[in-house]
Amino acid sequence: MTEGLYARDGQAIANLQKLRFFPLAIAGGHGARLIEENGRELIDLSGAWGAASLGYGHPALVEAVSRAIANPAGASVLSAANAPATALAEKLLGLFPGKGRNKVWFGHSGSDANEAVFRAIAKATGRTGVISFVGAYHGCTTGSMAFSGHSVQAGATKAEGLILLPYPDAYRPYQGDATGDAILELLKQQFATTAPPEKIGCAFIEPIQSDGGLIVPPKGFFKKFAELCQEHAILVVCDEVKVGLGRSGKMHCFEHEDFVPDILTIGKGLGGGLPLSAAIGPAEIMDCANAFAMQTLHGNPVSASAGLAVLETIEREGLAEAAHRKGERLREGLRQLSARHALIGDVRGRGLASGVELIADHESRASATRQTAKLVYRAYELGLVVYYVGMNSNVLEMTPPLTISEAEIDQALDILDGAFGDVAAGRVSNAVLADFAGW
Ligand code: PMP
Repeated sequence: MTEGLYARDGQAIANLQKLRFFPLAIAGGHGARLIEENGRELIDLSGAWGAASLGYGHPALVEAVSRAIANPAGASVLSAANAPATALAEKLLGLFPGKGRNKVWFGHSGSDANEAVFRAIAKATGRTGVISFVGAYHGCTTGSMAFSGHSVQAGATKAEGLILLPYPDAYRPYQGDATGDAILELLKQQFATTAPPEKIGCAFIEPIQSDGGLIVPPKGFFKKFAELCQEHAILVVCDEVKVGLGRSGKMHCFEHEDFVPDILTIGKGLGGGLPLSAAIGPAEIMDCANAFAMQTLHGNPVSASAGLAVLETIEREGLAEAAHRKGERLREGLRQLSARHALIGDVRGRGLASGVELIADHESRASATRQTAKLVYRAYELGLVVYYVGMNSNVLEMTPPLTISEAEIDQALDILDGAFGDVAAGRVSNAVLADFAGW
């Protein structure tokens, strides 16, 4: 039956919207577990790419959404005020330590939030240039792709004046410099030559680069980067769509560094599975209505109620602190696996955002792309959902529900141990690679 639903999905739903890693078709779930049609349970180490922040069926989320959808007072915030959206905006403003007077823009996805911010900054400042990083994934709309740097979007039209910097990666350092200082030098050089800073409105950063390979930057890099931007009145936009709201071990991922961005974008886990994103930043930017970022259903009370329930639950259940503890446990287990499995080149992460980079050999560090696809397939067969990311599709990304238990983490590690052993022993067929292209 599972195969049936998966096949029908392939016939009916556009490949434009599919990243296929294995034939997963979901009938239900609870906590950090997904249930297939035949009743088999899987541990979800992806958490729907980080969207299932509270896991599946959390009573607080179910109650809030049910209450909101049953209330006929609903309307979008486009031309009316509604209580859940106003309360959520107030809550987000209270959580954001940004200077000055801030306001919130609501959207449905990380893509629309980043695009709206980009457009509003250009309109409000008259500066259209933008800085971002190689490997950055800021969205799939034309606007958000224009300042992304991921290889899957190689064909996208880029923004005029886009500066793409190398992302600081201790495992694959730019010019051998693991501090990232060489990247800051490169930017200064560009300011002095080809890219006058007074034409640049903003810089988009990911405080952990997610789709580019779950890369944790060296401590202090983004503080220095933000200072350099500030010197030139370039606004720093921190895209925490995947790693924000408790996942990193703190409410906001930038709190791990000693800096505060001008604008924060969040999504995915904010709605706990419902479409909801937000941008929080200076009122003079967010009020720039002629940048035109209006959508009929933004701030709808059902999504907004989900967002409020997610934030309240993260605070009430101490999920950020727990994410720190659980993430350390997961990475400790992964490091133990790396001693046994030569395919593992690097284990990294912060809180419940972890990456495992797979390599062909430890000298060249060449990406083990095919083995990565086989690994996630075999893990699925053994009862675990984990996907991969990275410019070379060779990094396992682990962003499970914040509610995952320590016992489930240990179980996931056992499954990964088996899957790595099976891939190394050649027990996973090459046919998997033809049917499941991933990305
Ligand atoms: N920013 C980041 C950092 C992301 O990881 C993603 C999605 N992978 C997005 C933006 C786009 O979000 P969405 O898919 O909700 O449009």
